[in-house]
Amino acid sequence: MSEIAERLEELEQLGLARRLRLVSGPQGPTVLIDGRPVLLLCSNNYLGLADHPRVREAAAEAAMRWGVGAGASRLVSGTMTIHRRLEERLAEFEGSEACVLFGSGYLANIGVIGALAGSGDTIFSDELNHASIIDGCRVSRAQAIVYRHRDVEHLEWSLARHGGRRGTERKLIVTDSVFSMDGNLAPLEEIVELAGMHGARVLVDEAHATGNLGPGGRGAVAQAGLEGEVDVVIGTLGKALGSYGAYVCASAEMVRYLINTARPLIFSTAPPPPAVAGALAALALLQERPHRVQRLRTNARVLRRALAAEGFPVSEQEMHIVPLVVGDERDAVNLCQEALERGVFAQAIRPPTVPAGTSRLRVTAMASHTASDLRMAASILGQAARRLGLEPAAMLAPAEPKPEPRPQSAPPAWESEREEPEGLYAEELLDEGELRAPPSAPFDLERDDAITRAA
Ligand code: PMP
Repeated sequence: MSEIAERLEELEQLGLARRLRLVSGPQGPTVLIDGRPVLLLCSNNYLGLADHPRVREAAAEAAMRWGVGAGASRLVSGTMTIHRRLEERLAEFEGSEACVLFGSGYLANIGVIGALAGSGDTIFSDELNHASIIDGCRVSRAQAIVYRHRDVEHLEWSLARHGGRRGTERKLIVTDSVFSMDGNLAPLEEIVELAGMHGARVLVDEAHATGNLGPGGRGAVAQAGLEGEVDVVIGTLGKALGSYGAYVCASAEMVRYLINTARPLIFSTAPPPPAVAGALAALALLQERPHRVQRLRTNARVLRRALAAEGFPVSEQEMHIVPLVVGDERDAVNLCQEALERGVFAQAIRPPTVPAGTSRLRVTAMASHTASDLRMAASILGQAARRLGLEPAAMLAPAEPKPEPRPQSAPPAWESEREEPEGLYAEELLDEGELRAPPSAPFDLERDDAITRAA
């Protein structure tokens, strides 16, 4: 048996093997899986803009006008006026001085963290930050101090204890604003305040907040009234803005610095013109019709209420990401499969994406769902869980800060720098849903189109 085959077998044994699911058609409220329509409850197309006719048309027109590829890194040959236009609009939207595009949110985190911290510097990172932040910390070679989830006291303690001894080291606090797998909010106000007190910069990843939270969908930073007070805001174009790519908003000086130092921007091809045009159209739609944001919030509330009525331990609020924490890896996969057979697709999320023992279905509301879609989905999830003997009420409550008494002297556990967290290496090899080739025939445009039309 080859080493690769052994590793695959091991993943299979651990209930951690992933496979790609073949989905026909766009990321609408319903998708076709194996030719069967199912309700999509795990997409980040939160505002339903990825498949909006205006967004599609803008992308198609851009392909005709600008071509499909940007040709090179922007510093070599790739900056087109369309990139500049999107950057101007995004800076205006975010109320920031300047903006620069990146190939993806993953690349933006790697690039910005690496530019703002290096060997001898210290990064303070929430323990549930996204994998791209974790990888950014690793690649930067800075000392990474992982503070407990949303635990401001622990962050304060860490800031006081680490970094700055020589006075020349840089400190960087990094956090998701909406945590991708738990759907809760970072304590941004406190973080900004602590950063000011300890001479640290703040980077906020708004991947799941842009378009979804705050006035006009301007994100969690705007919702907290902190516009202009966060050093770097990263947003993605691949989620609520329905396209692909990412952006960084900051001061003009910071953006100039990133253009000169962020390696994924310097050494990777610029975002493709159709994706840039699609994001421009999506942003225009969001600004013209901000009621979509309200619709998402209402749908999130409907979904949460319906899940709570089924007995799931779900809090009553408006966040669009709802974790149903099953615990065991195989139980999560079985629940996903059982729900899929009943017409609801909610992907099972397992380690290394979430900590061991907290495998879950991560369900997400979209503005394009109807209230009855969401109530039906909750009822199907309840039936599926009970059918497997997984009583919804017995599931784990989602991650909350863990208030523990603070010892006077520092406990060693707090020093867990999580440079090389157990299990997280697999994230480098596999993304959610990857590994085995799909059992059916490879992607076939004609067949796929026919299936979509038949739906
Ligand atoms: N940050 C967070 C919080 C995310 O959830 C994700 C995507 N899942 C990313 C960054 C990466 O963004 P992208 O998909 O654009 O690479």
